[in-house]
Amino acid sequence: MSSVSVIQVHPDTNSPTRAWQKLQVHQKVVKVTPMDPSTPILADHIRFVCLSDTHSRIEKGQIKIPDGDVLLHAGDFTNIGLPSEVKTYNEFLGTLPHKLKIVIAGNHDLSFDYDLVKNNRKHLSGFGWTRSLVEEKLAEYGITGVKELMTNCVYLQDSGVCVCGINIWGSPWQPTFCDWGFNLERGQPLLDKWNLIPKSTDILITHGPPVGHGDKCFDKQNVGCVELLSTIQQRVHPKYHLFGHIHEGYGMTTDGNTTFINASTCTVKYKPTNPPVVFDIPVPEGF
Ligand code: 5GP
Ligand code: MN
Ligand code: MN
Repeated sequence: MSSVSVIQVHPDTNSPTRAWQKLQVHQKVVKVTPMDPSTPILADHIRFVCLSDTHSRIEKGQIKIPDGDVLLHAGDFTNIGLPSEVKTYNEFLGTLPHKLKIVIAGNHDLSFDYDLVKNNRKHLSGFGWTRSLVEEKLAEYGITGVKELMTNCVYLQDSGVCVCGINIWGSPWQPTFCDWGFNLERGQPLLDKWNLIPKSTDILITHGPPVGHGDKCFDKQNVGCVELLSTIQQRVHPKYHLFGHIHEGYGMTTDGNTTFINASTCTVKYKPTNPPVVFDIPVPEGF
């Protein structure tokens, strides 16, 4: 018999606060105290340094980024994904000492959503963003897609990378909110993306939170994705899940199995004051 578990769409998927009221009865959410980033790194460990939602606000060195081996960024590194912002961010990554930088996009990194660029989705022009502006800039840089600017990192988009035997998967999608980049409807459309996450994933990076962990908005509503939590708890069981998007949900929690990290650097007022979160993983045997 196949041991593949099929995740079902939750009946309350479109009301995550209500879904979480039911789900939380059967599980715990324990706050985790982040480790002191000045703790020496053990020789047989890899240190990960987590950022998210920096929104073009860290390039001038406003925030101290701790040393470590691998830098992870969970999206919204720009304001509106202009190629000039992406170029500045990539140059900033190039100045950091971490051996490897792994980055995903968020809903603000608009030009990474090629479908959105192609269809020139309407309301975004209000933010000074147009398809022609993006395409003119790309032509000026001699490239056809903004991903080509990300030369100082590994950019993940429903894809993975293995670092010393540690499997990392990244995905930018989040529930629709005001027609931004990588928006998808709750339920099956998002679950289709989560079904791409390999079972062997050790560190999952998504832009948005799962329901119940780091997903409470300032109005006290849970807005995380129900099927993302189901995928983590019923199928993938990663050691770490890194995300951002809900800036006011910054912090670290565990369900006893996965450690959830909302690493939003920016506060809900877009002030880049939340410190990066670090964690260490022992290098697996044989690496
Ligand atoms: P961003 O625009 O940077 O993606 O998100 C910034 C803020 O917008 C979040 O901290 C949160 O307050 C709000 N926000 C983002 N997505 C949602 C959502 O799906 N629902 C609600 N109610 N607020 C959201
Ligand atoms: Mn953000
Ligand atoms: Mn966001």
